[in-house]
Amino acid sequence: MSTASSSTGSRGQHADPLQVLSQVWGYDAFRGPQEAIVRHVIGGGSGLVLMPTGGGKSLCYQVPALCRPGLAVVVSPLIALMQDQVAALQQLGVAAAALHSALEPDAASTIWRQLQAGSLDLLYVSPERLLGGDLLERLGPAISLFAIDEAHCVSQWGHDFRPEYIQLGMLAERFPSVPRLALTATADPRTRDEIISRLQLETGQVFLASFDRPNIRYLLRGKQEPQRQLLQFLAEHQGEAGIVYARSRSRVDAIANQLRSAGIDAVSYHAGLGNEQRSAALQRFRNEAAVVVVATIAFGMGIDKPDVRFVAHVDLPKSLEAYYQETGRAGRDGLPAVAWMLHGPGDIPQLRRFIDDSAAPDEQKRIEHGKLEALIAYSEAAGCRRQVLLRHFGETLAQPCGNCDGCLEPKTLVDLTVPAQKLLSAVVRSGQRFGAAHVVDLLLGANSERMRQLGHDQLSVHGIGTELDRSQWRTLVRQLSGLGYLHPVPGGKGGLQLGPPDLVRPLLRGELVLELPLPPPQKDSRRRSSSTAARLLGAMAADHGALTVDESLLTALKEWRRQQASQQGVPPYVVFHDRTLVELAARRPTDLDGLGGIGGIGAAKLDRYGEGLLAVLLADGG
Ligand code: ADP
Ligand code: ZN
Repeated sequence: MSTASSSTGSRGQHADPLQVLSQVWGYDAFRGPQEAIVRHVIGGGSGLVLMPTGGGKSLCYQVPALCRPGLAVVVSPLIALMQDQVAALQQLGVAAAALHSALEPDAASTIWRQLQAGSLDLLYVSPERLLGGDLLERLGPAISLFAIDEAHCVSQWGHDFRPEYIQLGMLAERFPSVPRLALTATADPRTRDEIISRLQLETGQVFLASFDRPNIRYLLRGKQEPQRQLLQFLAEHQGEAGIVYARSRSRVDAIANQLRSAGIDAVSYHAGLGNEQRSAALQRFRNEAAVVVVATIAFGMGIDKPDVRFVAHVDLPKSLEAYYQETGRAGRDGLPAVAWMLHGPGDIPQLRRFIDDSAAPDEQKRIEHGKLEALIAYSEAAGCRRQVLLRHFGETLAQPCGNCDGCLEPKTLVDLTVPAQKLLSAVVRSGQRFGAAHVVDLLLGANSERMRQLGHDQLSVHGIGTELDRSQWRTLVRQLSGLGYLHPVPGGKGGLQLGPPDLVRPLLRGELVLELPLPPPQKDSRRRSSSTAARLLGAMAADHGALTVDESLLTALKEWRRQQASQQGVPPYVVFHDRTLVELAARRPTDLDGLGGIGGIGAAKLDRYGEGLLAVLLADGG
C-alpha cells in the first residue's frame, strides 16, 4: 500500500523546506505566501490561511509536517478529500494515512500499528474521530502540528457548517505548544473572524493570499436560447471535464437529458438522487477525462479534481460569494479554465422574489438583498468583471484583467434614456402584468394573433422600439430590472411592473441620463479554438519558450496514466497532473535526469514511474 520511506528520520527538524519541496514534490519554488506560512509553522507558530481554491493550501501544512519531527494531524470534513490527499501523498513516497469510518477493520489496525511505531508523518481524521474516542490521549505527545482544513466549516452562517468543528477550539487549551494552522478558501471577513474566535487563533498570524484566479476566464452571456447557447459552448470544450450548474433538480435532470441526446457524456447530480447514483456520478467525474456533471449547488465541497476546465452557470447563483466558490472549482491546476454564465431578464426579478417570499426574518432578507446587489453589479459591469469581483472581496486590481468578456469584448456606454422610457411606457400601457417577451414584442411591433387578441396592436407604444433588436431590448430589460426600475409582479408568473415612483419618475421625466453598455446586435460568435493541449502549453509558455506539444505522445501518456491509475484504484490526477504530462509531451526528455527536471516529478515518482515513462517517451518515435 505504501512505498513510504522512513521519512521522519531522513528529514527531521532541520530539513530545509525548499529542499523538501523539490525532493518530494518536484517543484522548484513556493507560491505566494506559502514560504512565509511554512517557515512560520516550522518555527512553531499558529495561524489562519486564507487562500483561494487551487492556491496551494495543502503544501502549507504538508511541508512543515515533513520538517517537524512527529506526527501532523490533519482535520478534514470529508472522507473523499482525505482519501485523495492520502493517495497523492503516498504517490510522493510520504508516510500518510487517513482514519475514517469507511475503513475496513484490518486497514484501521494497520494504521494504529504505524502510529504506535511512530512511522507516519501525516494522519488525516474527521473532527468526530479526533475528538470522539481516545485518539488524542494515545497520540498526544507525538503530535507535531494540527492542520484544520476547510476551516469555514466552523461557521454557523455558511452552508458547510459542521457542529463538531466548533469543539476543535479546545485543542488550543489542551495543546498550547503545538502549532495549529486553519485553512480555508472562504474570503468573507465575517467568516474569517468567526474562525479565529472559535478556533482560538487570536494570537496566531493571518495569511491572506490574493483571491484572484488569473487562469479563470470569466464570460457572461445574455440568455437568448439557453439550450442552444449551452450546446455551442460545450462544443468549444469537447474532450474536457466540466460542471454545469442549474438552479433546480428538475432543470438539472432536463438539461442532462438534452446534453445526452446531443451526444455529450453528461451525468446529473443533486440532492434528490440516491446515494448510489450520486457517488457513481462523482466517481465517473473523478476518474474519466471528459465527463460533464450537470448539478445543483449540492455538488460542491469535496470536488478537488484539479483539471476541471469549465464551470457553466445556466442560472444565476444566489450571491457573488456563491458564484466565486462555484466558479473556483475550475482550473485548480492553474491551467486555463472558463467560467461561463448566462443571465436573462427574468433572473434578477426571480431572485428578488425568492428572497421576498422566503420565511426569513426581515434583517436576514435585508442581508440577502444586499448580496444580490453585489451579484447585479458584477453581472451588469460595463468594464472588467474581475475588478468588480475582487473589489467585493476587498482587493484592488489596478489594471483591467484582459481575461474576461468585459476586457476581451469591450462594450461602449450608450445613452439609453429614450429606449428606457419607451420600455417603461410599454410596461405601463400594457397593464403592468406582462413579462419581458411580450413587452419586447410590443415594442418591436409584433403583429401576432396574441397581440391582436389583447388589442395591444392598438396601443401607442406598439412598434415604437425598432432602434434596438430583440436581444438588445432583453439586455435593457435585464439592466433596468437590475437597477430596480422594473420589478416582478408579486405572486405573478414573470410579469413586470414599475419600481418605486421616486426612482422611476426622474427617468420618465427625462431628469437623468441613463448610460448603459449595450451589446452589438446578436451574432454568432464561432471562434475556432485550438486544441486543449496547445492552449495549456500556451499558458505555460513563460516556462517553456517556443515548445510545441506532441499530441500523439500526449495521448499515449494519458493512456499510460489511465492504466497506472486504474491498477492502483486512484484517480488519474493522483498519478500525474495534466500539467506534468503536457510538459513531458513538449520537452520529450529521454533519460531519468531529464525526467527529474519536469515539474511534478519528485524523487519517489521518478523512482516509481521513471522507467515506465521513458518507455512511453521512447516508443513514440523518440
Ligand atoms: P488548494 O487546496 O488551495 O485548493 P492545492 O493544495 O490542491 O490547492 O494545490 C493546487 C495545485 O497547485 C496542486 O496541483 C498543487 O500540487 C499545485 N501547487 C501548489 N503549490 C505549488 C508550488 N509551489 N509549485 C507548483 N505547484 C504547486
Ligand atoms: Zn477583465
